[in-house]
Amino acid sequence: MLNLILFGPPGSGKGTQSSRVACRYNLVHLSSGELFREEVRKGTKLGYQLASYMLKGLLVPDNMVLKKIYKAAIHHEDTTGIVFDGFPRTVNQAVLLDRFLNKKNIPVSIVFFMMVDEKELISRMMGRAEDSGRLDDNEEVILRRMDVYEKQTRPLRDYYQKQNKLSCISGMAPVKVVAERISSVIDNYLMKKEIIKLVAE
Ligand code: AMP
Repeated sequence: MLNLILFGPPGSGKGTQSSRVACRYNLVHLSSGELFREEVRKGTKLGYQLASYMLKGLLVPDNMVLKKIYKAAIHHEDTTGIVFDGFPRTVNQAVLLDRFLNKKNIPVSIVFFMMVDEKELISRMMGRAEDSGRLDDNEEVILRRMDVYEKQTRPLRDYYQKQNKLSCISGMAPVKVVAERISSVIDNYLMKKEIIKLVAE
């Protein structure tokens, strides 16, 4: 299984790139934010609780996140792989995801860290706010999300660096160029895996 994680600050293009990668390699695209927005749209009790965090730009508590993600991952157990988009977002989530996937012998393959300048991020999100329809795309919440990212999500970089799984991608280029960069890392990974398999046989 090819399990990928894309993470980076809000507005770094992880959603766009995740769906491109999923399409190109025939993987399941699992976006935690999208799963939560769907629940909010359904108007369930859980959706109501999720919205109370999302609208403030705060992270949803881990127990609520993990329940949703595990359920979705188990539902797609027979797939060729999963692209995790927006999850994990804390080191605790990453530790628990590792535990979950390692138990199933399907560990995380590559973690892409999307790097974009702060000025560019804010301008992208303010631009997106005009037509995204997302209630958390307004200046006050955007700034809170950036702050939450710095404090709670950025530490993932060291966590995955220590595991030798981190690939830093500059997200400043056009979408197509960034997608090519990501694909070349994946192709390299798959080629190495194939060579190791051939040598072992
Ligand atoms: P996103 O679509 O990834 O920007 O996520 C939108 C919002 O959903 C975030 O601002 C959080 O409130 C919530 N959220 C998404 N993923 C997570 C996660 N892994 N952990 C906690 N909260 C999350």
